[in-house]
Amino acid sequence: MGVSEMAMKSTDIPVSTFQSAMRQFDDAAKLLKLDPGLLDVIKKPRRSIILELPVKMDNGSLRIFTGYRVQHSVIRGPAKGGIRYHPGVTLDEVKALAAWMTFKCAVVGIPFGGAKGGVTCDPHKMSKSELERLTRRYTAELMDVIGPDRDVPAPDVNTDQQTMAWVMDTYSMHERRTETAVVTGKPVAMGGSLGRREATGRGVQFCVRAMARHLRLPLKGLSIVVQGFGNVGSVAADLLAKDGCTITAAGDVNGAIYNKNGLAIPALLEHMSRKGTVVGFKGGKPVALDQLLLLDCDVLIPAALENVITRKNAAKIKAQIIAEGANGPTTPEADAILNKRGVYVIPDILCNAGGVTVSYFEWVQDRMGYFWDEDEINHRLEVIMNRSFHDVSQLATEYNASLRVAAFMLAIQRVSEVIQFRGLYA
Ligand code: NAD
Repeated sequence: MGVSEMAMKSTDIPVSTFQSAMRQFDDAAKLLKLDPGLLDVIKKPRRSIILELPVKMDNGSLRIFTGYRVQHSVIRGPAKGGIRYHPGVTLDEVKALAAWMTFKCAVVGIPFGGAKGGVTCDPHKMSKSELERLTRRYTAELMDVIGPDRDVPAPDVNTDQQTMAWVMDTYSMHERRTETAVVTGKPVAMGGSLGRREATGRGVQFCVRAMARHLRLPLKGLSIVVQGFGNVGSVAADLLAKDGCTITAAGDVNGAIYNKNGLAIPALLEHMSRKGTVVGFKGGKPVALDQLLLLDCDVLIPAALENVITRKNAAKIKAQIIAEGANGPTTPEADAILNKRGVYVIPDILCNAGGVTVSYFEWVQDRMGYFWDEDEINHRLEVIMNRSFHDVSQLATEYNASLRVAAFMLAIQRVSEVIQFRGLYA
């Protein structure tokens, strides 16, 4: 099911993900006394590129795939953001994801703007060589706009280190030199960073720990439900289980499983690596996907796609804390309901920023040609995540605002400060 279909199904009204992102922006901008024109400059994507990509399929036929790259901002540094392969990818979604990248990089204080890319395709129905040809064509079309100082892609849903290796190779062949810093999330063997694969899930772990400290809740024994058991969700579940939390349920696109005493995460990861899904895991019983988010738990980690927590289910969610591993899982209507109910939502632009933070470390290491060990990476990540959580929660207290509003306020302040210093080139 495509992302926009998911949004339609769960709210019964079409949701523009970009409009949702802009509503979040406006809620925070209201509290800042900034020039409306300046706010408009910050909101609008700097450029949106639509590509029609011809790809030779294995059976000899030719297919055209539509691809996108949106550079939302390059004010604070090169644009930065992942590439998504999914049947539901649209320009609207890519614009929203690019905007969130701008604000995410500002919240954690790393010197990047925001971008996102995507191709409307079903990678599960394509062979590896078809995906390689698609990726190389997409990269070749973007030669003039990507680069270590311009725009640095990374993995997102359904793209991985292999995809990034193809992007790096294609870019390097055109440039006639090896350029590792053009993408992040590469294999460690070719300039990738230790700890990058786990970084987003680890960042979610640091945020859940920080929130538990903030609320004076013991971390050990917290019950956690995870929606989406891919890169972000499975790593967050594994690390939080090692912290002593109880992961009671996990779901992916195929179905979900539940065990009130806790799922054995190492065994579940092993099952996943064999079957590619949590479905069929013997250590839990099946639970309907639409019930997963409503299960009794302390912490809910949505780590799949956007617009899954809506006005229809927000009032029924039992978790006290929602840690947004995914980008944009909560619609603005749902956010209002959760705020009113006193649910603590750790917003995506803070909660899942661990990935882009270690991507930044990867870019830095590639450019200096010297690589840190994993402890150094994880320590630097922890410092940045804790500092960012502190900055956001302090602003939330000062303005009596939600963590999401505070995170957007912090981001808008940081972007606007740079625009004011740089001025507008006329
Ligand atoms: P992934 O492809 O590795 O995993 C996605 C998971 O979501 C899969 O388990 C998939 O089966 C599941 N899923 C899809 N549709 C679902 C549905 N309807 N119900 C339940 N599960 C469903 O992707 P990922 O990299 O883990 O990304 C997940 C989310 O985290 C996305 O929103 C992405 O933008 C965001 N994110 C990822 C990173 C990163 O570093 N990978 C960084 C920041 C944010």
